[in-house]
This record gives sequence, C-alpha cells and structure tokens, in this order.
Amino acid sequence: MRPTIRFGRIFGIEVGANWSVLLIAALLSFELTRGGGGASVWLVVVPMVLVFLGSLLAHELAHAVIARRNDMEVRGITLWLLGGVAQLGGAMPSAGAEFRIAVAGPATSYGLAGVFVVLALGAGAVGVAPLVVSALGWLAFVNIVLGTFNLIPAAPLDGGRILASALWAIHGDRTRADIAATRVGQAFGILAIATGVLGPAIGIPYVSLWTALMGAFVYRTATAEQRIARLVGNFADLQVRDIMIPDPETVRGWNTIQAVAADLALTPPRHHVLPVVAWEGGIGGVVTLEQLERSDPATRHSVRVQDIAVPLDRVVAARPETPVLAVAGRLGEGPLPVVLVFDDSVLVGMITPVELRGSARGAPASDRRDGAGAPTPVL
Ligand SMILES: [Zn+2]
Repeated sequence: MRPTIRFGRIFGIEVGANWSVLLIAALLSFELTRGGGGASVWLVVVPMVLVFLGSLLAHELAHAVIARRNDMEVRGITLWLLGGVAQLGGAMPSAGAEFRIAVAGPATSYGLAGVFVVLALGAGAVGVAPLVVSALGWLAFVNIVLGTFNLIPAAPLDGGRILASALWAIHGDRTRADIAATRVGQAFGILAIATGVLGPAIGIPYVSLWTALMGAFVYRTATAEQRIARLVGNFADLQVRDIMIPDPETVRGWNTIQAVAADLALTPPRHHVLPVVAWEGGIGGVVTLEQLERSDPATRHSVRVQDIAVPLDRVVAARPETPVLAVAGRLGEGPLPVVLVFDDSVLVGMITPVELRGSARGAPASDRRDGAGAPTPVL
C-alpha cells in the first residue's frame, strides 16, 4: 500500500493516505446522510468522518509507537480503502514484543470508544443537539467494531498476531506459530469473501461487497506471510556458502559477444547468469545467456561482452558467512536476480533464484520479491 498523500510526521512517524481513503470517506458520508435532514446534517457528518479517520490513525499509531519501543523499524502508516496499515521493518524480535505491538491497536480503539461514550453521555446531560449526541454514540460504536473486528484471530488481523505470539511463546517455534495463524487468516478470508458475495442475496445483515474486499485482502496477505514464514523456517540457520554455486563459471569481458557465444556453445555453462571478468582483473559485472542471445547479430563480432554486462555496482554482493535470509529479500534489488559472493574481493560463489528454490522446499521463486526483507504490514 503506497501513500499518495503525505500528512507529515506524528511522533516522528511518517503518516500518509492512499487516494482510496477518499472512497471510504465518501461512502460513509453518503450512508450517514441518507436519513435526510438537510444541509445541517453535513455539519455533523463531515467532522464525524474526519474523527473516524483519526480513530483509524490512532489505532495504527499505537501499533507503530509500541513497535518502535520494541526496537523495530517503523516505515510509516498509510490509511486506505480498508482501514490503516503500519509498515514495520524487519522481523518481530520476540513473542512478547509481537503480542504487545498487536494488542496496542485494539486497546486504543476500545479506549477511544470509552472516551466517546463519556462524551455522548455528557453531551446528552447538558442538552447538546441530539444529532451531535448520536454522532458521538456512533463514533463509540465504530471504535468498538474496529477493535473487535481486529481481534478476530486470523493473521494479518491483530487477533492473528496475538494468536501467533501465544503459539510462539508456548511451543517456541516461530515458523509453526506464523503458519498456524496465517492458515486461520486464509480460512477467514475465504469465509469473508463468500459471505460478502452471497450474504446480501440471502439476507445476512451488515455484510456487503466491502466484506468480500476485506476477505480478499486478508486472504492475500495471509498467503504471502505464510510463504515468508516457510522461507524463514527453511533458511533460518543457513549461510550464503551453504546454498551458493561455488566457483561459478565466468566469461572474459574484453572478448566479443561472438567469441564468448562460440565458447559457450562448445561448453554450455551450469548457470545462465555469468560473472564477467574485467581486463584489469577482478569481476566487472554480470551478463546473462539471454542478454548474449538477444544481442544484435550484426554487431556481435565487434561489441565486447563488458559493454552489454550489468556493471558490478548494480549487482547485489554478499559474503559467504552472510545469513541466507539477509540476501533472500535482496535478490530483486538489482536489474538481475543474482547475488555475487565475494571473500575479500575474490569471487567465490553466486546465488540465483534457482538455489533459493532448491534449498527451500515448497517455497516458490516468487518469494524473492516479497521475501524476508519485505516489511510486515500491521493492520
Ligand atoms: Zn491493528
């Protein structure tokens, strides 16, 4: 979820909104003014919707502030169509931290609901316009709904994170805990999609297309997080040297494409990404078999391989003792999905998605994009 509107910083945390938040604002305003009442209704409804968005923001800020206090990187908060998302960087440091971060959101929503109940009662007692009293009552109600909905134990909802932290604390196995919580998330997502699509037709109250959209979002996020959990589980103790292609075959950058292609035709390489040796010595970049094949046949005899290679400064590099998890998320950073492994500037190995796939049974190559380096969205 990318913010398209930036509001600035609150407690040093970047806060923004996606344009889709305007859609909930508009839908809500439409719903709330449907009873009629003329122009004066808008004077109440517009502040109501703004305070509602503020409540969403407070919920996310609570997650973010507690996350930062538990030494997690907070990349920002975005409000969008289905509520708010706080993007946290890195892995949860402990089961306790995961629990505290998750619980902070619903606790804030319930706290706000309490405040609005008190305000509504107070406003009623001193004879404020009934419209304002019911607006405060509505704000209390939506905050209770927000807190309660988020406590459903289905990751990525807060309740799912709480479930994962509890299972993690009980069994000591973080991967298993995450997989269990995201499985509930997938099941809940499917249920919400079905209810949202069929519900209005068979007369289930309070469900709509919005329920189905929320379900689809929960299902997708749960599925992505489950893949990451498996990836983390598979690679937890591995270092780059454990899975890399050792001593990869190289090509000479100063040779023409034609000369290199002729060599490769005689002795096909084991891998399709080839480090390019520079004339001065050392590695100057990488080239792929596809790049060589795609090159213009008319100029192959004159263009050197180093002229079409991806230069070294645009290739992700690692050391043999780097944890695999630290590079898995970086494979997609450069123009080519490859990590070159150097030991004191000497090339000793290489990792491509093939090695990650081979080592992570059951984890597809698409993990390299939303892999372990990806931020954790907290709803
Ligand atoms: Zn939350």
